[in-house]
Amino acid sequence: MNLIKKNLEKIKKEVGSNVLVVAVSKTKPVTCIKKAYETGHRDFGENKIQEMTSKFNDLPKDINWHMIGHIQTNKVKYMAPYVSLIHSLDSLKLAKEINKQALKNKRIIECLIQFRISTEETKFGLNEDEVLEIIKLENNFEGIRIIGLMGMASFVDDQKIIDKEFKTLKVLFDKIRCSNKKFEIISMGMTLDYNLAIKNGSNLVRIGSKIFGERNV
Ligand SMILES: *Cc1c(COP(=O)(O)O)cnc(C)c1O
Repeated sequence: MNLIKKNLEKIKKEVGSNVLVVAVSKTKPVTCIKKAYETGHRDFGENKIQEMTSKFNDLPKDINWHMIGHIQTNKVKYMAPYVSLIHSLDSLKLAKEINKQALKNKRIIECLIQFRISTEETKFGLNEDEVLEIIKLENNFEGIRIIGLMGMASFVDDQKIIDKEFKTLKVLFDKIRCSNKKFEIISMGMTLDYNLAIKNGSNLVRIGSKIFGERNV
């Protein structure tokens, strides 16, 4: 029995064809990713650049690799040749480095800005003014295309809090999209909250444990 295949196909059926499922494979071995790949799935998410790069080297080259974790500027160069979408653009300094490495590789790298919707202190991400500031400066970065927003809700049981945070993300997304046709991806929702995220307009969900099983960390 192939549980990964079963889980993935069930989720994709559930979310429908308008929502992209990024299978979050962090901490999981390439054998697990291969099982998902064999079902035709091509979008995988990782939160560490070194781990993602080692998996990129070991796996077929038609995989779309999504960087969803906090990024150290000095490691951008390792993923710049191949990364498909960066979800966690969260500073001007990082934008400059992604731009530099993209141009070096003669690429345009697509990025989402990480918007802080959670009130928990440890979460990375920018506030609304900082998001708008980066978008305003985007024309200075020929190697970057900003195509949407990413957000992580608080780790709480109270669905009302999560619902409110997703709505905050959707409001800012719509506001920017009004005057920016490139804006098309709203990355919100994980294993525990993806249904609520989709109700609130998400079109990309990042799902790990519900596909690959619990992580032991
Ligand atoms: C780990 C992670 C996920 C997936 O988490 P699950 O709860 O296992 O679905 C999604 N987004 C980010 C940013 C993550 O770090």
